[in-house]
Amino acid sequence: MLKLININKTYDNKVKALKNINFELGKNQLAVIIGPSGCGKTTLLRTIAGLEKQDAGEIWIQDKLVNDLVPYKRDISFIFQDASLFNHMNVFHNIAYGNHGNMDNKQLKQRVEKIAKMLKIDNLLERYPSKLSGGQKQRVAIARAICKPSNLILMDEPFSNLDAQLKEDLLQEIKALQKELNLMIIYVTHDQKEAFALADKLIVMEDGYILQVDKPSNVYRHPINPFVARFFGDINIFEGYIEDDYLEFADNKIKLDKHFTSGQILFGIRPEDIKLDGNIELEDIQKEDRGNYYLFTAKINNLPINIKVNNDIKFNKIDFPAEKIIVWGKMLDESN
Ligand code: ADP
Ligand code: MG
Repeated sequence: MLKLININKTYDNKVKALKNINFELGKNQLAVIIGPSGCGKTTLLRTIAGLEKQDAGEIWIQDKLVNDLVPYKRDISFIFQDASLFNHMNVFHNIAYGNHGNMDNKQLKQRVEKIAKMLKIDNLLERYPSKLSGGQKQRVAIARAICKPSNLILMDEPFSNLDAQLKEDLLQEIKALQKELNLMIIYVTHDQKEAFALADKLIVMEDGYILQVDKPSNVYRHPINPFVARFFGDINIFEGYIEDDYLEFADNKIKLDKHFTSGQILFGIRPEDIKLDGNIELEDIQKEDRGNYYLFTAKINNLPINIKVNNDIKFNKIDFPAEKIIVWGKMLDESN
């Protein structure tokens, strides 16, 4: 349904904003593009929309190569951080604005009312934008983007200016609308909470590259590198040495459940995945009450480690369960 092949984009000032971007998105899927500020998220959305022209590569939408199509011929809706509404139109007409293809007035009215209801603005349809709060305006802008029948809806950090509770409500409403109306959406954010709340497919970017494309749970469990691992939650990262399916680090030896080539590697273990007994000895154990969990900090042979525990219990030895260890090393061929 949407397919990007080797997209590269260099700005006039020689900044390479997109480097070999490839991904696909299925009909009715919601993808979240996430990455730190300046990594190329907005450039990627603008390029898909046709507002920027890529140096090379192909963009396919609904089996059509759209490289040479102007933005409005791509049938894409947008919503950006500071959504602007038409102040001389009421909420109903703001939502209904634009080309609505084959819909007659009755169908359009029904669609506006359905979407307004799901976004809890159905009681505001007669009102003008000057009489709306910031959150209500943002809801109207979302309703407009969703009302227009389009192939693809692009959202660039649309909720960065809203407070946390409102943001959470809107994320759930968007997710519900997307499922109910079978929408294809690409949502850009730098916030991992938003990404996990929304994404069918997570696209992680850094410095113009896509690092990883996967389900959120897979990105969390199997991050492709330490950068991605740290971007999505806390993680302890250590250097280790692998030989004959054993991981050696700080005078400890741990049996792995996968086969890697021997040699120096980096590995990670999430603070909540550590087992509270075993052979690894801890020193300098300290405890912090974090409200709904305890964070223990300690040292293993002078290497600092964080351990997350739900109950206040005493322990001085731990283990790393093999299935929870994330090894950034070269896998041995399965057939070997
Ligand atoms: P993000 O949305 O992830 O914060 P952007 O796509 O806005 O990142 O920017 C990616 C890179 O391209 C940055 O280095 C930024 O400075 C640069 N950039 C963005 N827009 C322009 C532009 N119009 N002209 C030149 N450089 C730009
Ligand atoms: Mg941006």
